[in-house]
Amino acid sequence: MSDRQQFSRRLREAGMRVTAPRLAVLEILDAHPHSTADFVAAGVREQLGAVSTQTVYDVLRACADRGLLRRIEPAGSPVRYETRTADNHHHLICRSCGEIHDIDCLVGAAPCLAPDRDHRYVIDEAEVTFWGLCPACRAAANATANN
Ligand SMILES: [Zn+2]
Ligand SMILES: [Zn+2]
Ligand SMILES: [Zn+2]
Repeated sequence: MSDRQQFSRRLREAGMRVTAPRLAVLEILDAHPHSTADFVAAGVREQLGAVSTQTVYDVLRACADRGLLRRIEPAGSPVRYETRTADNHHHLICRSCGEIHDIDCLVGAAPCLAPDRDHRYVIDEAEVTFWGLCPACRAAANATANN
């Protein structure tokens, strides 16, 4: 099954009509995970011509609401989207350049961590983000320090 057929099926299974902008958004995010809405909008326009940014925002919101996309909101960064959903994976983010890697969840299911006191809440999520410096930014920082 081609990616396009697979995304068509996922849209229908989520109760959504299959439209060209929806397919384009899913394809772009599958090829470029953790992209911003602006990046996706530029890609959609490249594929389909004139599509308004508002249309792309609407597609992103609808797909995220139906579980076809996951939104991530790293501190200090615009919202990003990805097609890898429902596996509770985490992210490793470079503090300097913002590069993002997927990190598999060690537990495999949410919530990843159990607090020592749950205050009688039913906890369904523990947001885990690993922050650091990527090798390129570390090398650049060392070069500056040695000058
Ligand atoms: Zn970096
Ligand atoms: Zn991810
Ligand atoms: Zn985890």
